[in-house]
Amino acid sequence: MHILNNLTAFVTGAGSGIGKAIAHRYAAEGANVFITDIREDRLLAVADEIKQAGGKVAFQAGDLADENAVQSLIDTCRKQLGEIDILVNNAGILDNFMPAAEVSFDLWKRVMQVNIDGPFFTCHAVLPGMVERGSGIIINISSIGGLQGSRAGAAYTTSKHALIGLTKNIGFQYATKGIRCNAIAPGGVNTAITDGVQPSPFGYERLMSGIGSNIRSAEPAEIAGVALFLASPDASFVNGAVVTADGGWTAY
Ligand code: NAP
Repeated sequence: MHILNNLTAFVTGAGSGIGKAIAHRYAAEGANVFITDIREDRLLAVADEIKQAGGKVAFQAGDLADENAVQSLIDTCRKQLGEIDILVNNAGILDNFMPAAEVSFDLWKRVMQVNIDGPFFTCHAVLPGMVERGSGIIINISSIGGLQGSRAGAAYTTSKHALIGLTKNIGFQYATKGIRCNAIAPGGVNTAITDGVQPSPFGYERLMSGIGSNIRSAEPAEIAGVALFLASPDASFVNGAVVTADGGWTAY
């Protein structure tokens, strides 16, 4: 018996890192997994791996910052795999650790578009169907940067705090409709998200001031395990919550 048998999951940013690990884990637990990412080449590879392992998968590339692209992704998922039972808003980008006075307006806007507009667009698109069916699960990948003040720059920190606000609002407001909405706040995870980052020296110095209390970074599979729990019936009473998965870093 697999935990997610016959459920359809829609996972964003699934071409890499945490999203890829969640897609693999959900597929292994019997879900039909729709994977999306801005990078089609990565989706092809991940879809191939899931199929090789015996999972059911479909994919389409798209930019989650574009509401029309998001609607097209949701429509394709519905056509190919059926109604969405589990939405995982995982895609996100960093902000070069820019403090408020240094972040350009363009970078600020792009971080907001990907990290908070995108999750809002997907929630807006799937919620009516979930309400109609009286069930649905939404999992938003925030960050300990969404709980603490200086784990990244101003834009990333603001966007991840906003994602927690969206999580709590949806979690409470739709609780009577059979829908659960939770967030995960990972600490450092070994992924490619920092590739190509050109940090602000001042912002980097300020954010690194707390690094001494970080025990270790996680592997993406350790976050996928939390995402599996939140999607499972074992989490039936967990709603509007933020599950911190940081190995104890913020406990200091
Ligand atoms: P990752 O390895 O960079 O994977 C994220 C994927 O999303 C990448 O393939 C990325 O493509 C894609 N993506 C970026 N913008 C997109 C857009 N507009 N539309 C569709 N796809 C897009 O990152 P990760 O570390 O797994 O991060 C996943 C989530 O966890 C993010 O929300 C991140 O903020 C959060 N998180 C990560 C850490 C960490 O330490 N890794 C810690 C806490 C929270 P590109 O490579 O082209 O950008």
